[in-house]
Amino acid sequence: MHSKQEAKPRLVWIQGVTCNANIHSFLNLPTLPSLLSKLNMLYHPSLECSHTLQEITQLEIACDVLIFEGTYDPLLKRNDVLIADVVKHFAQEAKYVVALGSCASFGGIFKASAPKRNSGLIFNEKESFGPLLESQKKVINLSGCPVHPEWLGYTLNMIINKKEILLDELHRPLELYSHLAHHGCTRNEYFEWKVDAKEFGLKEGCLFYEQGCRAPMTHASCNKILWNEVSSKTRAGTPCFGCTEPDFPRNNLFSTQTNMSIPQDVPLEIPKRAYLTMTGFAKTFSIKRLEGKLIDYKTTR
Ligand code: SF4
Repeated sequence: MHSKQEAKPRLVWIQGVTCNANIHSFLNLPTLPSLLSKLNMLYHPSLECSHTLQEITQLEIACDVLIFEGTYDPLLKRNDVLIADVVKHFAQEAKYVVALGSCASFGGIFKASAPKRNSGLIFNEKESFGPLLESQKKVINLSGCPVHPEWLGYTLNMIINKKEILLDELHRPLELYSHLAHHGCTRNEYFEWKVDAKEFGLKEGCLFYEQGCRAPMTHASCNKILWNEVSSKTRAGTPCFGCTEPDFPRNNLFSTQTNMSIPQDVPLEIPKRAYLTMTGFAKTFSIKRLEGKLIDYKTTR
């Protein structure tokens, strides 16, 4: 006897003000075909789905999972229908609402055009604000600019398998955001001994002291779950911009803000005095292995 097959979760993917980066990122998920086969895609702006935008904006169907990508702007319309009404309609029945990317989570880049009006679904930066405050329990924030494809893959698989997703105080899954982006960076030894990277793209040196790396203050698993399964920004020699945090974007992403040569922001929850003592001590040593090139092409030829 065949057991009755469970219905696949019905998913609707709606966009606010967005650059589409989260869709582009999601398309790089290696297990995408298998994941999609476990979902009933009612509407997606680019992937195969069963309904058109026009049908979706008639607000006559419901879904189990709503994904909202982009900044929420209460005045934005699609097909002459307010996106605010579309969001509220689908969020009502949905068991989960995924705010996808930093714009949907905290307002992000597109909040700048109307900072007091535009926001994420339940936050404007760190402040509670947005259209779904009353049903905030069902909102999962996946911040990132764009969000890592594996993070959305993880979240949808947990939903499909009816597993509980534990969240932090900003509604981000702890499994993905309890680490700092600094954890797992291949430059950690340079950080400990305070050896700076003088340029981008080098194999050697830490990008915290001069190049603006925010990883020691940023909750993200970019150096634990690698991008395209091979790399991360800091592994490639580019600073972490702290794009998963509510205050993203900031000014001067490529330089470290300092006061009298001391970084303005120090690693999360480390007292500034302890940080200064440790780094001052570390700086007194000169370690040849860390100060030289990892590969000296001149001497290997
Ligand atoms: S480059 Fe950034 S992530 Fe890597 S060790 Fe330095 S501070 Fe940490």
